[in-house]
Amino acid sequence: MNSEKTKVLIIGAGPAGCVSAAYLHQKGNDVIVIEKSKFPRFVIGESLLPISMEHFTEVGLFDCLDKQGFEKKHGARFMRDGVVSLFDFSKKFTPGWDWTWQVPRADFDQTLTEELINKGIDVRFEQEVTDISFNGTHSVTSIRTKTGENYTIDAEFVIDSSGYGRVLPRLLNLDKPSALPEHSSIFTHIKDTKRPVGKEGTLITFDIVKSQVWLWVIPFSNGTTSIGFVGPTKFIESYEGTTEEKLRALLKLSDYYYDRLKDEAFLFEPILINNYSKSVKQLYGDGYVLTGNSSEFLDPVFSSGVAFATASGLLAAKLANKQLNGTAVNWQKEYTEPINKGVAVFTSYIKDWYNEDLQTLFFHRPENLEVKEKICAVLAGYVWDESNPFVKKHDRAISSLAHIINMEEAKKANP
Ligand code: FAD
Repeated sequence: MNSEKTKVLIIGAGPAGCVSAAYLHQKGNDVIVIEKSKFPRFVIGESLLPISMEHFTEVGLFDCLDKQGFEKKHGARFMRDGVVSLFDFSKKFTPGWDWTWQVPRADFDQTLTEELINKGIDVRFEQEVTDISFNGTHSVTSIRTKTGENYTIDAEFVIDSSGYGRVLPRLLNLDKPSALPEHSSIFTHIKDTKRPVGKEGTLITFDIVKSQVWLWVIPFSNGTTSIGFVGPTKFIESYEGTTEEKLRALLKLSDYYYDRLKDEAFLFEPILINNYSKSVKQLYGDGYVLTGNSSEFLDPVFSSGVAFATASGLLAAKLANKQLNGTAVNWQKEYTEPINKGVAVFTSYIKDWYNEDLQTLFFHRPENLEVKEKICAVLAGYVWDESNPFVKKHDRAISSLAHIINMEEAKKANP
């Protein structure tokens, strides 16, 4: 069997893998990226957060993306029972990027990988990592090509960015149950022939159609739109038929969007992902680190997936570079702790979303603009800014405020 050598082997060419590869190459390391699919390939995760723009810029991937004319996302709209809560990223507590994109990921990820190739990085498509063994920090990874040949790569360090493939969690038995309740999602793309002109047509929206159940509408600059429902697994399972029949029935729940969406052909058979939340026992080991979705996936409601992919991809690459240059890395302190801090903030927000405390804040009128700008910073992905009390006290800030609002409302109802 053929055998090759590299400094860093990266599994998967999604946003996490591309950011890691670009950084490590920038610092002069030999990198090989192994990608199972042929690009362009569909993947879900189309609404980005402004914090990712920092990561793309730092590793030299911003310009290639900016040239594509992806739809700009300046904020996000949430709606429930006719009340609208509009977050504008330019009005957020933490300084930083105030816009990002909403993107068809097939095009987005292809742009990223083309740029890696332009930079001279070795990206191998249609090759699958099938096994790995470690000898200290050195590893031997087995790879199968699309024609069925097998070869190995001896690497000084491995970054697993395999997303839903969860290569190392599977091979090293690192999976653990998620702390979040079981939710599922069903989604597709449409042509959006009734898209209104102007801002209404391009605004990304989360429409809460019933307790714990919401619809996303993500318009793209190419005229197509992503639509998808999220809800408790039992609720989604209660719909019968094909995924197309299920999604068509679910559309009826949205008073706001039904007319715009009801007659649209689905551009592909809707995809159903059951129990999408994932977690792992550890984020690193001797000679490897897990990044992006391969480590942890929470929930799509705040579009945090790609932001974590780029944040963890960049941090992992920086630490791998440091280690490969002979400086010891404390992976627990320098990687797990900061990543878990961000995960903990979003986990609190997601729990408070589904128990409706956060919705109480979003839809209470009149709005408290000081609170709103602090929550807006979290929604932009700035979850490591501890000067923001809604980050620092993420586990109680929202529930305490919701409690006060609920008491005031109860008093008004029964003076
Ligand atoms: P991916 O983008 O999944 O890339 C991993 C790559 O690894 C793939 O190309 C795959 O082919 C490759 N691979 C897998 N196995 C192997 C193997 N054995 N060998 C080689 N290569 C392999 N996130 C957002 O930010 N915004 C959203 O709006 C959003 N919506 C979502 C909606 C739903 C319903 C769900 C479930 C998730 C959503 N996410 C969203 C999350 C988002 O999909 C992921 O967080 C994001 O794609 C993770 O990026 P990644 O680079 O870690 O992995």
